[in-house]
Amino acid sequence: MLTDLLATLADLAAENAWIDQALCGQVDPDLWYPEDGNAAQAERAKQVCRHCPVRAECLAYALDACEEHGVWGGLGLKERRRLRRDAA
Ligand code: SF4
Repeated sequence: MLTDLLATLADLAAENAWIDQALCGQVDPDLWYPEDGNAAQAERAKQVCRHCPVRAECLAYALDACEEHGVWGGLGLKERRRLRRDAA
């Protein structure tokens, strides 16, 4: 039982290792959660994402988790929904 739990925790840590390289960890995190309609703020976050080395991993996580808020992998919610819909 304890061995299974430790293995699960190790798997989770490995799956989320990309977070250590996230550029947004070096910038005000509020930038990635723009108030409704604040396109300028969202665009500033997306500009940072374009240079992030783990953009693909971030976007994959957000799509898998169906994140409903914020900018992930350089895409806002509407863009992620469109991507999921087009991929279906
Ligand atoms: S791509 Fe993801 S991890 Fe990278 S800066 Fe953007 S939100 Fe952060």
